[in-house]
Amino acid sequence: MSPSPPPRSPASPDLPLNHVSVQVRGLNYFFGKGDLRKQALFNINLDLHRGQIVIMTGPSGSGKTTLLTLIGALRTVEQGSLQVLGRELHGLGHRQRVEVRRNIGFIFQAHNLFASLTAAQNVEMAVELTGGLRHKRQRAVEMLARVGLADRVDYKPANLSGGQKQRVAIARALVNHPQLILADEPTAALDKKSGRDVVTIMQELAKEENCTILMVTHDNRILDVADRIINLVDGRLESDESPQQFADAHAIKALDGSMFVM
Ligand code: ADP
Ligand code: MG
Repeated sequence: MSPSPPPRSPASPDLPLNHVSVQVRGLNYFFGKGDLRKQALFNINLDLHRGQIVIMTGPSGSGKTTLLTLIGALRTVEQGSLQVLGRELHGLGHRQRVEVRRNIGFIFQAHNLFASLTAAQNVEMAVELTGGLRHKRQRAVEMLARVGLADRVDYKPANLSGGQKQRVAIARALVNHPQLILADEPTAALDKKSGRDVVTIMQELAKEENCTILMVTHDNRILDVADRIINLVDGRLESDESPQQFADAHAIKALDGSMFVM
């Protein structure tokens, strides 16, 4: 008897579905209504594979955040297909989209920490959202230790540096072991060294947990962590390249650790 084949996704016959975290087909997106209706994304086609770190670049206003929030089930898919972690988002209702979000870690530039809560309490809140009430303090403290904040767990955001706050946000995004991490300019507000530390932590945790990271950045200093770099221009996916191809095409001089402050 021959073994049964792995499950396959209908739109990507060459790959088993469980290797693909995100599959986008013919995705369009519009803002506004009537005369003010404006198309922000045009016919996006994209696959993100398990364990990959994909960096998304592109000029301001090119649609990066719009695409990220669609993939994160924070916006409604109107035209095209968007499969995230095995679920088609087109046609999903609000409650089902909330469920999808539980498997996604979000890291934004404005880290949105609660000022009145300590670092540990901010991370514990994420644990509570998934119903994990047992050992939540322990899990939060462990994750904060992983991002180098073992001695800051009871500090409030006002008493943490920019890099430390961003690391709390990373701990919060990762504490539930999401299969997909969506990060929107996570290093934009950080100095060189903190920015580098933050992406290194994300990279290590992604490889350990075999999750997918899609990260928007303008930061040339961190391109080398990517397996792929995609470039969005005027709402269209213009290129999909390795970091070296991207560096050659954009005349970025060095693409190795030597360009970074250690
Ligand atoms: P990026 O993140 O690449 O800077 P965005 O995804 O934020 O770009 O925006 C893409 C386009 O959509 C821009 O033209 C922007 O003005 C427009 N846009 C973004 N958000 C809204 C909104 N809430 N209402 C109307 N237009 C928007
Ligand atoms: Mg943006």
